[in-house]
Parts: sequence; structure tokens; C-alpha cells
Amino acid sequence: MPALTDKLDLGSLHLSSGEGRRLELTVRIEPLVLGGERYVVEPPQPAVVLDVSRMVGNGYALRLRFAAALEGPCMRCLGKAAPAVEVDAREVDRPGGGEELSSPYVHKETLDLAAWARDAFALDAPTQVLCRADCAGLCPVCAMDLNALDPAGPEHHHEREPDPRWAKLRELELE
Ligand SMILES: [Zn+2]
Ligand SMILES: [Zn+2]
Repeated sequence: MPALTDKLDLGSLHLSSGEGRRLELTVRIEPLVLGGERYVVEPPQPAVVLDVSRMVGNGYALRLRFAAALEGPCMRCLGKAAPAVEVDAREVDRPGGGEELSSPYVHKETLDLAAWARDAFALDAPTQVLCRADCAGLCPVCAMDLNALDPAGPEHHHEREPDPRWAKLRELELE
């Protein structure tokens, strides 16, 4: 199992100008909160591939790749969802290169790998976390899980808008 790395001293790699190195590491990614719900990263310490290149002149070009799942409640039916997220992120840090060539994750020669991995994962994660792309969700009237319906059976519908007090009562019954 590769070493768990939160921060990495790029200088300790002793790369010469133009030289690159591929590192296999693991990094811990903290749970995310999306739409008020908590989502964990599975595995919480994914294996990552980090390519470090020492640029000619000065600075580093970095590429981070890993895959992990985002686990938590489906945003439609509240069932279990675990969409796979593939991360392929790049950063460039070139001292004296101005704002655009300055990475927020590199301070002097120290790479904040944990912060970069977390941000890149959050950026690539779906904004709608679903158990499956065509999740039917819950009936807005009676809160029944519409995924459980027999597709060959009768359609689920309500004759008329029920009294909202009844809906409230049903909600309580479901708890
Ligand atoms: Zn669902
Ligand atoms: Zn219903």
C-alpha cells in the first residue's frame, strides 16, 4: 500500500530541470456536504497517481489522477447512491510567473496534496447525486418510492390534490 501523503515536499524529489517523476500515493479525502447531506468518499483513502515535472527554468507542472465513488443518499429517492468520480487535474506553479502560473496548492516547494485532491474531487463530482440516472424518485404527493412500481402495472397517480393536512399525517406515519 503506497504511503498516505497529505503534504509532499517537491524539493525532496531532487528533480533536475526538465525531469519528471511518477509517484503512486494514497491520500485521505474528507467527506463532502452537498445539498445539506453528507457524502463520503469510497474508499476514503484512494490510491492516486501524481506526475511531477520540473519545468525548464523554474517551477513545477503537476498532474493528479484517481478514481473514487461518492457515497450517500440519492437526491431523488433517498436510497443509496455511489456514483463513480474520475479525477484528472493539472496544476502549474512557476514562481515569478504571475497569478495564472501560481498554484494555490503549492507553497514554496510543498504541495498540499490533500487539499488539491479534495477540491478536484468536489469539482468533478456530479451536482445531482443519483442512485441511477433514471431514478424515478418519490411521489410528491404520498412519498412512495416510484422505483418500486411494477413497470407493467397500473400507473401511480392520485385522483386529486389531497388535503395538505393528510399529506402531513402520512409523512408522520412513514416515520
Ligand atoms: Zn434514487
Ligand atoms: Zn403517490
